Amino acid sequence: MAGYFRDEGIVLKSRDYQETDQLLTILTPRHGKLDAIVKGVRKPKSSLRSGTQQLCRSRFLFYAGKSLATITQCEVQSIYAPLRQDLKRLAYAFYLVEIADSAVMPGQVNPAMYILLKQGLEILAGAPPVLVARAFEARVLKILGLEPRLDRCASCGGDLDGGGRPALSPAAGGILCARCRGREGPEYQVMLGSIKAWQQLNRMNWQHLRRMHLTPNLTRELEEILPAFLEYYLDRKLKSRALINEIGGSENDGTGKDRPATRTPGD
Ligand SMILES: [Zn+2]
Repeated sequence: MAGYFRDEGIVLKSRDYQETDQLLTILTPRHGKLDAIVKGVRKPKSSLRSGTQQLCRSRFLFYAGKSLATITQCEVQSIYAPLRQDLKRLAYAFYLVEIADSAVMPGQVNPAMYILLKQGLEILAGAPPVLVARAFEARVLKILGLEPRLDRCASCGGDLDGGGRPALSPAAGGILCARCRGREGPEYQVMLGSIKAWQQLNRMNWQHLRRMHLTPNLTRELEEILPAFLEYYLDRKLKSRALINEIGGSENDGTGKDRPATRTPGD
């Protein structure tokens, strides 16, 4: 498809290209994930500079060349300023961006993932980052058709609270009861409270995330099992998790602290 086309998009990645250009990876609602060159953007006076930085949402005019597309105009919609002013929120923003980048193949059109990333970045400005990340992961799994079975054992269909600790098994596509554990692949022992919180994250409206409270134990466990499940199916390690851990991860963000914690059996 040669010629001009318009779309909005979120810049997932940008790297220097040739002398003064940059090569961007952009997630768009209508044209999927695409690579595009911004010519001359590293010159001081380039008008394309502000809207083409990583983590910007802009309206673009692209020209589809023989190989790569070129960005000929762009109008910035949001630079997500509140995220750039807070190192922790910024680290989480890069995490959401990395997940979206890993979940959509080049050229693949996935409007649901675009909308999810856009909403996730907006909510991240005001809600506890650790909860936004968990809700985002849960929704990505849904969009990819990988939502795990959480209400019953994924293998025998039995009750999960029938005695013994259940475990999350990515290979089995859900939670295994104590009797079915240990048959294939990695497993992560889970508290019933974590399973309930995960179900809640699946159902919950984004706007209500601010009111969700988790105990530190549940927060830590979900922080391990949700990314593990996602990484198993994306078949890669999510690198931004290291940055989040470096700057303190889920600690000190108020979730489950200074507030009455929701306690559930098994916690
Ligand atoms: Zn079972």
